[in-house]
Amino acid sequence: MSAHSIYMSDQHTAFRSSVRHFLSEQIVPCAEQWELERSIPTRAWRMLGEHGLLGLLHPTKLGGSNHDLFHSIVFLEELGRIGYGGLRAGISVHAYMATHYLGKYATSELQEQYLRPAIRGEKTAALAITEWDAGSDLSRLTTSAEVSGDDFVINGTKTFITNGINANFFVLAVRTQKPAADARRANTGISLLLVDASAPGIQRTPQEKLGWHAAGTAEIRFTDVRVPVTNLIGRSNSGFMYLMRGFQLERLVAAALSLGGVERCIESTLTHVRSRPAFDGRLADLQTIRHRLANLTTELFSTRALTYHAAWMYLRDELSAKECSMAKLQATELACRAADECLQLQGARGYLAGSDIARIYRDSRAGSMAGGASEVMRDIIAQQIIDMQEA
Ligand SMILES: Cc1cc2nc3c(=O)[nH]c(=O)nc-3n(C[C@H](O)[C@H](O)[C@H](O)COP(=O)(O)OP(=O)(O)OC[C@H]3O[C@@H](n4cnc5c(N)ncnc54)[C@H](O)[C@@H]3O)c2cc1C
Repeated sequence: MSAHSIYMSDQHTAFRSSVRHFLSEQIVPCAEQWELERSIPTRAWRMLGEHGLLGLLHPTKLGGSNHDLFHSIVFLEELGRIGYGGLRAGISVHAYMATHYLGKYATSELQEQYLRPAIRGEKTAALAITEWDAGSDLSRLTTSAEVSGDDFVINGTKTFITNGINANFFVLAVRTQKPAADARRANTGISLLLVDASAPGIQRTPQEKLGWHAAGTAEIRFTDVRVPVTNLIGRSNSGFMYLMRGFQLERLVAAALSLGGVERCIESTLTHVRSRPAFDGRLADLQTIRHRLANLTTELFSTRALTYHAAWMYLRDELSAKECSMAKLQATELACRAADECLQLQGARGYLAGSDIARIYRDSRAGSMAGGASEVMRDIIAQQIIDMQEA
């Protein structure tokens, strides 16, 4: 069901086949076990690294393969298509979210020490931004990093951190400057720090969720954690700007993963309705069912076209906020709708706890919250089409 597209060459098609083969041979057979273990094991990271799948966007001089963005879109669609939300979250946070900031802004020393091993799958990365009182509204972030001699001293707690339980390092959003008392929204004074997970004073608590079981989600408390001032990623107090830029990529990633998930839903439902005898034929012969699947497939194709267009815009200008937000909004909401409709079409079997569609149903629900809620996406789009047009 993968669409032919003007954005995809024969090279991308060949890459899709090899990724699909690798995932079905090496990852899918172990996925249930990793869901039970609630995290992705070290050996899986190594396998992904050996296959070059953790550094597709990173430059060759840092150990990446410097492939164009559409190779990543292909990889992410295929990763989404395996139907395990926790796995896809852990892998994409490592390869496209946390390490993105190292590749773009970190010193060459930090890149050698952390990015290179992360691309090889020898170190696992997490991106720790969210706090109990700072989710959609990052101006409420309170985790602090104060300079003391040659170190930053970090205090605060991050929550819902994907890969949090087993990450070897965190890309951590901290407040390095207190907001002015009269500041309406304190987006300034935020910085990004690299924190090695072996530093004393870090306490991790696993968080049990509705789905995304293999994602290794954890709450992380930092108590007087010291890291060298040289662990600053980019410039001091520029973290908010870096994150806003990085979120464009994060939203594209979420969209591409969701497309794969929708494809998986439709494929598994097609298999079911074709083989399920009902009335004078099969479920697949009933017109209402045919039309529902036709609608979903049409929505998949149109959302894919939007996502590819957003990726193309991102390549031209990393500040393609409107298009990336549209793609994230449309794809993650479609993923929820598709999972809901497909579970309905698979009937009671689909509702069994161990069924493929049941897992996809519960996993898809997180997509419209994590990495920016749908309402925030609508706010960004509205701001661009209404307020910016007025300015
Ligand atoms: C499975 C999972 C994995 C995650 N992984 C990570 C991670 O690795 N690292 C990390 O830092 N964070 C992570 N998060 C946190 C995620 O980024 C936040 O959930 C997200 O930023 C939204 O924040 P919140 O959940 O606190 O919701 P809140 O900000 O409390 O918002 C709650 C709801 O209010 C509504 N809302 C919010 N803002 C607006 C608005 N402006 N207008 C109208 N309605 C609004 C939305 O419906 C929203 O869902 C993860 C979350 C989940 C669920």
